[in-house]
Amino acid sequence: MRLSRTRQETRSWVKTCRMAGERIALVPTMGYLHDGHLSLIERARQEADRVVISIFVNPLQFGPGEDYDRYPRALDRDLDLAEKAGAHHAFAPSVDEMYPAGEPWVNVVPVHGADRLCGASRPGHFAGVLTVVSKLLNIIGPDAAVFGQKDYQQLILIRRMVHDLDMPMKIIGAPIVREADGLAMSSRNSYLSAAERQRALVLSQALRRCEERFASGERNAEAFRGLLMEVEGEGVALEYAEVVDGDTLEPLDEVSEGAVCAVAARVGETRLIDNTILGH
Ligand code: AMP
Repeated sequence: MRLSRTRQETRSWVKTCRMAGERIALVPTMGYLHDGHLSLIERARQEADRVVISIFVNPLQFGPGEDYDRYPRALDRDLDLAEKAGAHHAFAPSVDEMYPAGEPWVNVVPVHGADRLCGASRPGHFAGVLTVVSKLLNIIGPDAAVFGQKDYQQLILIRRMVHDLDMPMKIIGAPIVREADGLAMSSRNSYLSAAERQRALVLSQALRRCEERFASGERNAEAFRGLLMEVEGEGVALEYAEVVDGDTLEPLDEVSEGAVCAVAARVGETRLIDNTILGH
């Protein structure tokens, strides 16, 4: 696997692939890889001859007081894991390489879909995400890019951005990879103490109860919100419990297949998110 630290090296590698007629898929990440990220690499391999993983902790998508400084970083370990999962190239730029003139004058700012769910408590977060993803897509110009359903709102906003701005690539959503006990894998799980790790299971358990209730015929969205609100408890502070349309992210009164139950909570100091697509 090749590693590049600059946009120029990355573009010249892409050019060589293109001259050989190869298709390219991109997997953007913030690193500290786990099996969820590796599943995206595997999905990307089905789509293209060459898989590029980007590893960049993007300061633009972190708000003041969030965990940018302490976000876990382990580049050598990540390169090893990405190579074993079948990535052909890693692009791991510095902040100066991505933002050489400091904070960019121009951002990609979503007009709809970013004010609720995670956007409500993280103003500016999705503009930071869409800006860096646009830059990565412009630098690499892949045929496809793969994102996890774990960050459901992000996946929808990226799909809309690519559609609305006529960016010529396919956006692929990949299912959530979970630990054996149900906890959705996340780089931020490394912040959890053993006791918090145990408490965090309430999120995936509540989502599983939503799936069961849907399978047994429940269609009233309030019933699902009620189940999700039960995650609130000792050491777990609920941030939101929502049932939304899977395409528009609008809140629902009545659910049907494809509706998304989404939950965010703070377990101790750590903010965790999880979701499920009903009927899938
Ligand atoms: P991150 O490094 O957290 O920014 O995530 C990079 C990509 O991996 C995003 O598209 C995430 O949605 C995806 N991802 C994170 N956790 C998981 C997971 N547990 N299962 C599947 N994809 C994931």
